[in-house]
Amino acid sequence: MRLGFRKNQRESNNAAAEQRAAETSGATDRSVVLGEVEELGIGMFWATDAEGNLSFLSQRALADLGSGGDELIGKPLIRVFNDIEEEVGAPTQRSLAFKLKARSKLDEQIVAVEDARGSTRWWRLNGRPLLDAEGNFRGYRGSAVDISAQYAYETQVARQSQVDELTGLANRRKLNERLSAMLAAFRVSQRSCALMMLDLDRFKQVNDTMGHPAGDELLKQVATRLQSIVKDHGEVGRLGGDEFQVLLPDMDDRGTLGELANRIVQSISQPYQINGRRAIIGTSVGIAIAPYDGVEADELTRAADMALYSAKETRGGTFCFFTSELRDAASKTAMLGDRLRDAVDNGDLKLAYQPLVDPLTNEVKCFEALLRWHDEEAGDISPAQFIPVAENDDLIIRIGEAALRQACVDALAWPDTIRVAVNVSAKQFIRPGYRKAVAAALAASGLPPQRLELEITESVFVGDLETVDAIFRDLKKLGVRLALDDFGTGYSSLGYLKHGHFNKIKIDQSFVRGCTENGDINPAIIAAIVALAKALGMETVAEGVEAMDELALVKERGADLVQGYIFSRPITQEQVLAQFAEGSGVFRPSGPPRHRAERITIFRKVGLIHEDHYYDVILRNLSKTGARITGLAGVPVGTEVVLDLGHGQLVVSKVANATENSQGLKFETPLIADGSGGFMTRHRISPYSLAEAGIPLAALGAGAFPLAKWRDANKTVPKFVQLELSVPGT
Ligand code: C2E
Ligand code: MG
Ligand code: MG
Repeated sequence: MRLGFRKNQRESNNAAAEQRAAETSGATDRSVVLGEVEELGIGMFWATDAEGNLSFLSQRALADLGSGGDELIGKPLIRVFNDIEEEVGAPTQRSLAFKLKARSKLDEQIVAVEDARGSTRWWRLNGRPLLDAEGNFRGYRGSAVDISAQYAYETQVARQSQVDELTGLANRRKLNERLSAMLAAFRVSQRSCALMMLDLDRFKQVNDTMGHPAGDELLKQVATRLQSIVKDHGEVGRLGGDEFQVLLPDMDDRGTLGELANRIVQSISQPYQINGRRAIIGTSVGIAIAPYDGVEADELTRAADMALYSAKETRGGTFCFFTSELRDAASKTAMLGDRLRDAVDNGDLKLAYQPLVDPLTNEVKCFEALLRWHDEEAGDISPAQFIPVAENDDLIIRIGEAALRQACVDALAWPDTIRVAVNVSAKQFIRPGYRKAVAAALAASGLPPQRLELEITESVFVGDLETVDAIFRDLKKLGVRLALDDFGTGYSSLGYLKHGHFNKIKIDQSFVRGCTENGDINPAIIAAIVALAKALGMETVAEGVEAMDELALVKERGADLVQGYIFSRPITQEQVLAQFAEGSGVFRPSGPPRHRAERITIFRKVGLIHEDHYYDVILRNLSKTGARITGLAGVPVGTEVVLDLGHGQLVVSKVANATENSQGLKFETPLIADGSGGFMTRHRISPYSLAEAGIPLAALGAGAFPLAKWRDANKTVPKFVQLELSVPGT
């Protein structure tokens, strides 16, 4: 950026003086005038000899620099006057050395001069080469003005418009400039660049409860943590408010990016010390990669924003990669919100109950109440989907309180040794008046408080922790029990446990599922959590146990209770009552003997490339290491194929097993988790290579790899029989 140093009256005087100085032959009146010009500080003069050494410098200039002159006179000019550093806000100009060598005129050249005290002053030089009658170069004659005060001020202003004042990070303007410049340059050199958008979860609470200075301090600490993770792999900036951005050149490996995002989430979620008080926040991260998700800066920014929105929707404290399906996710959420409101008004939300069983006796000790919503059009909608939508407004309060009242009433019909656990959203929990709602539900139903358990996730530990502590104390006084749900996900900090708020810890499903697989550290984590809980006098529950081997493991590691499909899926109140009517509180385990690698059941049309043919197939399920497809007949085991999952995701695979019309594929390189329960490839086909094949450079679309040419070419007879496909629900 060029600085606008204004010409003023002093300068035109100065230019005139310089003119005269260069022409002066020593006339006394002139030297008197020049002496006065110097004296008044209007201008200073300098000259060099033909070799470029400083031969003259005004007395005033020497005085300003605190120099007697000896150490400066006779020195090369480029040693006395230094080029200014090329930092933010500094004007761009050719170097002094370059100009002197070319013997060109010096026009407002800004230089840095070190004074005798070692501090830097800034001068603006004008000067011109002096030639004798024969045209020989005799040296430079010029003038100088000290512009130190003005220069420092103007560079600071320029810097401020590039730098976020609070954190010292790049600001929105600089980040936008950088991103645009980088994408333009990278397009030419065919490089990739990732953009991460961060938004702090529940920062507002800290600001509201602890005050703005505390909020500012927190943002500074966040900036420091971010920089220490990103280091010189990329540029961290603050867009404003609680939004940050990270620009990562030459990054398109979604595995590495996911790990980095995960480290950022973990680090930001550790507690902060602010003026002697502790505060906790979280962060969500959205990731988009150029040129795959966007070729232009605004396109890429929008993509990263959408991914961020989706990460926040999921549950906060996570990251999400952009996919083109996210484009219409926002409008879907809005629609879901409207339908949910109607459902609540019509009383369409029901509760189901899942038993928590003592694995030593198979006796049920407690039921967890889980919301169920059956929508006429959309079918069953999972609470994992609609609870976050309800949390966007106060609907969650209505839903939560209705569930609480219903659960208390239902539990009263059970044997009086059996407890009921109710999930509580953080938003509901930290709202003033929650304790009253609990007390009212207990009073209305007549359920003894010790039979009610509230399941809370770590996300309640936000903002000012002293306020949160007070809520816990109030609830404990009522006599209800408290359970920490989904322990080990998101904001894990053992700090919460020390305060003795909880009667129970529920070990998250992600540790339990697949815990028996070889080389897994999950069994060690489970054992550690159980030991810790025992030491602190808490009960433990292993969530999501599906297979017999998982049951054996969590039993052996000492989990007090087990909840999972192995004992029962969530059932209706009628089913619960029928079970007790038969006189039995016993649930027998039944399930597969061993855990199977996580498979996502999907019925999606995808592509399969074999030799020069492109087939349509249906993806039946997908795991990290393989997939099952149908739609082709007669594919022998061992055939090498490429599965096209769309969005530029090609997976080199081999047919590992086959029936007449279905094949099990094994992937050459495993897929990676996409951060929201699905799988994706580490790398995608680059729009740059597609551009080389004649497809216009653009972000990847939702569809299959554009291979229409292959499809139509029909160079050889297809090896396999394409069956007619019908995808359920499409
Ligand atoms: P959660 O509290 O962790 O509940 C456990 C979830 O795991 C339930 O999912 C349950 O059906 C599922 N689950 C239990 N055992 C297994 C298993 O062996 N395998 C598998 N794959 N899943 C198992 P659900 O009912 O879909 O609920 C999801 C989440 O929605 C709950 O997680 C809870 O956070 C939230 N939620 C449900 N009801 C309420 C509610 O009334 N209020 C609030 N605030 N949140 C609720
Ligand atoms: Mg729960
Ligand atoms: Mg849970």
